[in-house]
Amino acid sequence: MKFYNSLSRKKEEFIPMNSPHVGMYTCGPTIYSFPTIGNWRTYTLSDLAVRTFKYFDYDVKHVMNLTDVGHLSGDNLGDSSTGEDRMAKAAEKEGVDAWSIAGKYGKDFLDSMSLLNIEMPDVIAKATDHVKEQIDLIKKIEEKGYAYKTDDGIYFDVAKYESDGNTYGELSTLDKIKEGARVEINPQKKGPRDFALWKFFAKGQKRHNMQWESPWGTGFPGWHIECSAMSMKYLGDQFDVHLGGEDLRSTHHPNEIAQSECATGHKPFVKYWIHGAFLLVDGGRMGKSLGNAYTIHDVINKGYDTLALRYFYLSGHYRRQINFTWEALDSAQNGLNRLRREVSKLGFSENAQAKMIDNEYKKSFEKALSDDLNMPESLAILWKLLGDETISLSDKASLVISFDQVLGLKLVQEDVENPDDIISTGQLSKEVQQLVKDREEYRNKKEWEKADEVRNQIGELGYEIEDTPNGVKFNIRY
Ligand code: AMP
Ligand code: ZN
Repeated sequence: MKFYNSLSRKKEEFIPMNSPHVGMYTCGPTIYSFPTIGNWRTYTLSDLAVRTFKYFDYDVKHVMNLTDVGHLSGDNLGDSSTGEDRMAKAAEKEGVDAWSIAGKYGKDFLDSMSLLNIEMPDVIAKATDHVKEQIDLIKKIEEKGYAYKTDDGIYFDVAKYESDGNTYGELSTLDKIKEGARVEINPQKKGPRDFALWKFFAKGQKRHNMQWESPWGTGFPGWHIECSAMSMKYLGDQFDVHLGGEDLRSTHHPNEIAQSECATGHKPFVKYWIHGAFLLVDGGRMGKSLGNAYTIHDVINKGYDTLALRYFYLSGHYRRQINFTWEALDSAQNGLNRLRREVSKLGFSENAQAKMIDNEYKKSFEKALSDDLNMPESLAILWKLLGDETISLSDKASLVISFDQVLGLKLVQEDVENPDDIISTGQLSKEVQQLVKDREEYRNKKEWEKADEVRNQIGELGYEIEDTPNGVKFNIRY
């Protein structure tokens, strides 16, 4: 299979370092708020990559981090290591400490993965659980002479790294990584591209209670160092695939490469870099201040099946920006409903599941996957297959089962009588799930009026409940 490697800037044949093993690291979320549907696009991409590797029989070890300390608002811009502390800001806003913020949003993130049918990574690594590893890595960088101290932290010296014959910023799409104008620049930094490895609390900076002793003084790790420390801990000094959104390509990832290769004596850190293009909303940037930073909870509360969002993501190639509108999600929901309806006509038997089919559809599906994870094309092939009357129902059923291992649309669900509108309990928001439980309790106690009240509350949130002999069924209310 081939995919576009941001490092070589071309499509390359995928040859893992130790086939059939594949080591893959995804830059995970900063758990200071609910992830946006933009973030979820990137995690769905990561899931599609993992599922594709597995489809082609690779043995994947997937590691994802949760950033719960150290991520400052300037870190994603060119002005690394400055700006507001995201965790501290959220803690202040919600009137709790940074640990509670991490607990709340970390749990929400992990719970929400199943809503998009994203397979849980093999390792979920929290930055605060790996402070020792980060300190050890900084020590190595310091020993090699690439770290220096300022009043607010320990920094990586990019110019020195380059003057010793190393290349910095190979991945970057910027001509020059600039220090931004929006936030205060640390005048003690030797160069604008230098970034913090360890931070002290700067004068006037909001303090949070996430701080640790280190050889340089009390403080907390810089954002970039966590990914180097944790990826190398779980995947080794060198590994196959590193994935993240396109905003990480020009600062975060070049910084990871510099830190890691400096510490390991210049072993090439990662073989293939995959960057997902951004999701736009209504044709523009999404942002909290713009009121369009939609979350998966917004999608649920508006009555959509969360897998319709997954279907929407599949409809655009990952290297192109995709434009989200609620109308586009309507179309995706309709597409998914129609797909389920077609699939439900096939009838699934034991035989269908066991049979290996090797026909032109399978070949073109695999060709699409192998061609830089071309999901829109693979989805089109699925549609074409379903419409082809020359293929038997059981062959179609077998192919749908195997295609869905990658697409992850849960096309083969048992007991789907009316695939137009049935959703599974796992796809309901926690609020609705709690109401469903409450209603069950009232019903068990034969408090019918109260049970009906709760049913109405659930109705207001966009769901209809139907009691069937096999249990409760949920329909999305349009
Ligand atoms: P953050 O929580 O800001 O560290 O972002 C987590 C991940 O989501 C990173 O891989 C980002 O590149 C990615 N990301 C952020 N915004 C978007 C967006 N609008 N579309 C796609 N991916 C995004
Ligand atoms: Zn990272």
